[in-house]
Amino acid sequence: MNQNTLRELKNSLEKEKDMLISELKTIAARDPKVKGDWDVKHSEWEENEITSDEELEAGVSANEADEDMKNKALSDDLELRLRDVNSALDKIEKGNYGICETCGGEIPEERLKADPAAKTDIEHAK
Ligand SMILES: [Zn+2]
Repeated sequence: MNQNTLRELKNSLEKEKDMLISELKTIAARDPKVKGDWDVKHSEWEENEITSDEELEAGVSANEADEDMKNKALSDDLELRLRDVNSALDKIEKGNYGICETCGGEIPEERLKADPAAKTDIEHAK
């Protein structure tokens, strides 16, 4: 792979990394106990939305639990993707980028351009 292509792919990985982190920041907070792990923020309780009506309060809580679950699923996806992107950047640093993790063969440039974080060639894609 030529250096220009590698630089382009590295650029898109870095851009994607920034994007993933800013998206994660909006829904999750970095877990200080687990490196690289993110925890979903719990929805802020909007005091002005609380009414004395019990039924309504229950409804609000259910919506918030729902929201947390959606955020959890989304943050899991983002976290996984971030891990892949980081591992691709790591490989660029170590000089073993673009190698299929299954067979050790070269991943075609076209595939890397479509997904710079690809870990395998098309044959060994899950
Ligand atoms: Zn392969």
